[in-house]
Amino acid sequence: MTLTRRTLLGRLGAGLALTATTPLRLWSATETKIGAARITSLSDGHLVLPAGFMFDPMPQAELPLLLARYGLEGDTLRPDCNVTLMQSEGRNILFDAGSGASFQDSAGELVDALDAIGLTPDDITEVVFTHGHPDHLWGVLDDFDDPLFANARHLIGRIERDYWLDPATVDQIGVDRASFAVGAARRLEALETLETFEDGDEILPGVAAVATFGHTPGHMSFEIREGGDALMVVGDAIGNHHLAFARPHWPSGADQDRAMGAETRVRLMQRLASERMTMIGYHLPEGGMGHVEAAEDGYRFVPLEG
Ligand SMILES: [Zn+2]
Repeated sequence: MTLTRRTLLGRLGAGLALTATTPLRLWSATETKIGAARITSLSDGHLVLPAGFMFDPMPQAELPLLLARYGLEGDTLRPDCNVTLMQSEGRNILFDAGSGASFQDSAGELVDALDAIGLTPDDITEVVFTHGHPDHLWGVLDDFDDPLFANARHLIGRIERDYWLDPATVDQIGVDRASFAVGAARRLEALETLETFEDGDEILPGVAAVATFGHTPGHMSFEIREGGDALMVVGDAIGNHHLAFARPHWPSGADQDRAMGAETRVRLMQRLASERMTMIGYHLPEGGMGHVEAAEDGYRFVPLEG
């Protein structure tokens, strides 16, 4: 038989699934329905980050007490990465594409996660990006630098696309993130078709784009709605289950525009809590699916019961 790039990838994915240690029940615990649409949270693995990356710009005096509250010790954070899959009317829509093979060893497991629920990359009909950071975008190409989701349309917010394709970005983003800019531009340019959308657009049936700028200049969230049933895919606008909830107004080192990121986070928290809307956060634990609840000081993340 002839091994094309695609079949080779499929065979590797199938082989890995046999040795996967993730129990299947984990997947059912991270599923919900919005009307007739099935929403599944797929793990791409996790990241390994220096804690200071997030915490350095925060008020340092109050920090130790809060970190202790969440059992956060040491210098390293290991946030999960949750890719959202929406299945509706014959569509298999991915929100973000994971890290792929070349960002961190602990991430890039999306193909295995798809395989565990009986899907291959070829089954994906749309890939919708929240933003262009490596853990969300770099998985869009395979090891041969071909589009991994060969049959999919790719969609991204216009401002976000323009930012990463702007040749000036690599010089303006700072040395720590210069590789993000190079990597994003290379991948976005490799996609043969890349459609853009604006804040408020209904990008797919029942899916509206919601501007949540700050983490990146054009970061988008997505409101999935059918009748009174709704869910918000927030990407990294709410980036963790601890300080983003306890002190949403604090600046986070993870946000490129810290003031705008905090403003967006506060607004989103207020809305999700008051409407009691289900959310999926890309870096939240237990599949990232849950609710925002007002707490004595700030908010708390309440994972959906499996
Ligand atoms: Zn991220």
